[in-house]
Amino acid sequence: MTCKSSAYVTLNQAEGVFARLLDHAREHDVVLEQTGPKDFKIVVGSGFIAIGTDGLGLILNVSAESVSILYFLKEAAALHLAEYNAEVAEALHWEDESTRPLNLKAPPSFHELSVVSVSEPMDGLIRLRLSGTDDLSGLAGPGIHVKLMLPINPERTPVWPQASRNGLTKWPKGADELHVRYYTIKFIDLTAGVLDIDIVRHDGGLIADWAVAAKPGAKIGLLGPGGGETPDKAKRVLLCGDKTALPALARMLEELPDNVAGDVVAEAADLDCLTHYLPSTHLTLHVLPEDRFRSDVEQYSESLTVNKKPDFAWFAGEHQNAQSMRRFFKSDLGLSKGQQYAITYWRDGGPLEAN
Ligand SMILES: Cc1cc2nc3c(=O)[nH]c(=O)nc-3n(C[C@H](O)[C@H](O)[C@H](O)COP(=O)(O)OP(=O)(O)OC[C@H]3O[C@@H](n4cnc5c(N)ncnc54)[C@H](O)[C@@H]3O)c2cc1C
Repeated sequence: MTCKSSAYVTLNQAEGVFARLLDHAREHDVVLEQTGPKDFKIVVGSGFIAIGTDGLGLILNVSAESVSILYFLKEAAALHLAEYNAEVAEALHWEDESTRPLNLKAPPSFHELSVVSVSEPMDGLIRLRLSGTDDLSGLAGPGIHVKLMLPINPERTPVWPQASRNGLTKWPKGADELHVRYYTIKFIDLTAGVLDIDIVRHDGGLIADWAVAAKPGAKIGLLGPGGGETPDKAKRVLLCGDKTALPALARMLEELPDNVAGDVVAEAADLDCLTHYLPSTHLTLHVLPEDRFRSDVEQYSESLTVNKKPDFAWFAGEHQNAQSMRRFFKSDLGLSKGQQYAITYWRDGGPLEAN
């Protein structure tokens, strides 16, 4: 299914804003296509955000594989525009190419879910099995990542986010403010109406602490899914991640064609644990334990790739690691945009907010 939406916004100095948006896109690690002197496209999976100008305003077109990803892309476009002119972003009015009227109450991809059960598939990883009362079919993808949210004040009855015509999600403020973080759907069974999210146990995390204490029936908000990287056309891959990345690694391995070779470098206590957690794979699994992963992952990956250069490399984990792995992927492995992703999943000593 292709979902489309467009917006036009009148602007003073539209060409100047257009040029700044183009520069901004060039600075980011995005797949950018300059489609003409006055339009460009940011390609996201099989969708895109296209931005153009007619000199009097900006023309925005967004296309995505699902309603959920369309929502993410419209919001991303509106947020970038808001960086230049908040008033103009507020005034945006998206027209969806769909017969379905926009539901302006909840974002189309929002679900309130309840905990069905809690287990520990690996030391330090809490598995929440969740279910909901509404239609969960959109959660099967495309996209594997979601935003989980809880009230910052656990005493409050949750007030969930609302959608608006300009694409910017209205988040509750003040006493009802939400704590929002990205997670990955590890498993979904639409027939049974359940999904699993595996949450790393760590000190001082609102969601991590909540997961550790969660009892059946406890409620959590979810927005998504979106995102997830696939090694299109790769013959040899290098996939690395700490514990937060294990669910995403598992999902990538499930989709990997049989003719792709390569290595997985992951944080786990031992090879048995990792083999048990991940789907069966013909890639070679390498384990770095918790006390070595962050210090050794780059060097370990270098040693694996001296004679066997991958044509796709992926890392997810702590911010400093992500930065050094990105340098390694680009400079040492010579991989370009779309061939390499080094993604910050969390930041040591600080939050990585998702709203
Ligand atoms: C696309 C994406 C997908 C993700 N998927 C998953 C997933 O499937 N499972 C998962 O567990 N995480 C996943 N993460 C990471 C998760 O969003 C962060 O770890 C998040 O900060 C946890 O939220 P929290 O409320 O528990 O802690 P926060 O309130 O965000 O953080 C509190 C403190 O804990 C520290 N902290 C945060 N995460 C960790 C950690 N992992 N280890 C040690 N200290 C930490 C922070 O530095 C901060 O000081 C993903 C992140 C992204 C961007």
